[in-house]
Amino acid sequence: MKVGQKQRFKGRKGERFLKRSSVLSMTLATTLIFGGVFSYTGKAQASSKLNDLQEKQSDLHNKRSILNQSIDEKDGEISNIMNQQNFVEDEIEKLERQIADTDQKIKEKQLQIDNTKAEIETLKAEIKDLKERIEKRNEVLRDRARNIQQNGGSVQYLDVFLGAESFGDLVDRVSAVTTLVSADKKILDEQKADMEKLEADQKKVEEKLESLNNMLKDLEDLQNSLKAQNEEKKELMKELAAQKSHIESEKMSLEEEEELLRTQEATLEKAIQQEQNRIAEEERKAKEEAERKAKEAAAVTNSPSTSNSKSSGSGGSTETSSATPPVSSGTFSWPAVGTVSSGFGGRWGATHFGIDIANRTAVPIVAAADGVVHRSYHSSSYGNVVFVIHHIDGQTYETVYAHMSSRSVSEGQSVKKGQKLGVMGNTGHSFGQHLHFEVHVGLWNGAKSNAVDPLGYLN
Ligand SMILES: [Zn+2]
Repeated sequence: MKVGQKQRFKGRKGERFLKRSSVLSMTLATTLIFGGVFSYTGKAQASSKLNDLQEKQSDLHNKRSILNQSIDEKDGEISNIMNQQNFVEDEIEKLERQIADTDQKIKEKQLQIDNTKAEIETLKAEIKDLKERIEKRNEVLRDRARNIQQNGGSVQYLDVFLGAESFGDLVDRVSAVTTLVSADKKILDEQKADMEKLEADQKKVEEKLESLNNMLKDLEDLQNSLKAQNEEKKELMKELAAQKSHIESEKMSLEEEEELLRTQEATLEKAIQQEQNRIAEEERKAKEEAERKAKEAAAVTNSPSTSNSKSSGSGGSTETSSATPPVSSGTFSWPAVGTVSSGFGGRWGATHFGIDIANRTAVPIVAAADGVVHRSYHSSSYGNVVFVIHHIDGQTYETVYAHMSSRSVSEGQSVKKGQKLGVMGNTGHSFGQHLHFEVHVGLWNGAKSNAVDPLGYLN
């Protein structure tokens, strides 16, 4: 989308350059043809002014091509950031998949650990049970052993022997004791073997639990590192978004500047036209005057000289609720009635390229001199703003009227000194109702290198 727009814009610019240069050569040709008819001084004056304007135009071309380059650079930076954003987004997606995967593994491990713990508990219970049985069996065995010992081996034997009712009974009794003892012993041995096996099993399961716990710890470490990485990436995403919006606003102001320079050319073309018309009119008047004088000299008649009366402009305010400043005879009249609330120059560590004229009532803003409206638009910084290009006594000026609540002129419109441009307001980057007024000797530029203190020009 953006690339398309840019290409379209470049195409339009190319067209404009073609159209512009043909208009310029036409106007040049016109001047040369008509120049021959007029007096030598008039021609020289006209062409020097035109040279001046031509120079300004080529200067504008250069500035605009530099600006367009900067805009292209910003576009490059923006698409670079967008690539980075896509890349980081992919990485975040990957990390989040890994985190979910690790979560699953941790859950599985925990389940295994729980199962193993339960297994250990079962084994422990079995061992305990078996130990108790062994203990009981031991008791029985000890009792028997005690009996035999108390009576002494032989006594016991005698006991058994004497106690026997018959030889068969004796044999039975002897073997019974032996059988009992050996049976007990056998069971005991078996139980001991069982217990050893259980203990070995328990050891094995405990080892398994330890290894599971180790694996769980590894997984948890991995999870922590993945989450930390994810946080980092998200932080990076935030940073990239901030960078992108910063560059976009830079690009926007460059585009605004480019648009201003682009329209400056069109307004300058109009200024050339006006200047030519004015010169032609002067030449015509001078010629008429010369012819009249020649006639007068020939006729030697005395006629009263006509006073060259000039309209003094709108002296009386047409605004009932608000006043307009008087139209002066100097280079520039005051653009609004009010008090200077901020002067030209350093302010808050930055340069203030104009003056602020404040008024509590919304007074009209008027053109400081005759000129052509170069720009009349809404800017995010200037608010409702009007730029006027003037050509006074061979010098180009550009005046700026910012933060207006409304504008009443359109671009390309010719305005007279004292003509209303709009109403004082508080739009754009402004804190309180005021007019921000700039005077540029030459044309406005982004660096505002032509800005001068308006107080030196207002009267
Ligand atoms: Zn200001």
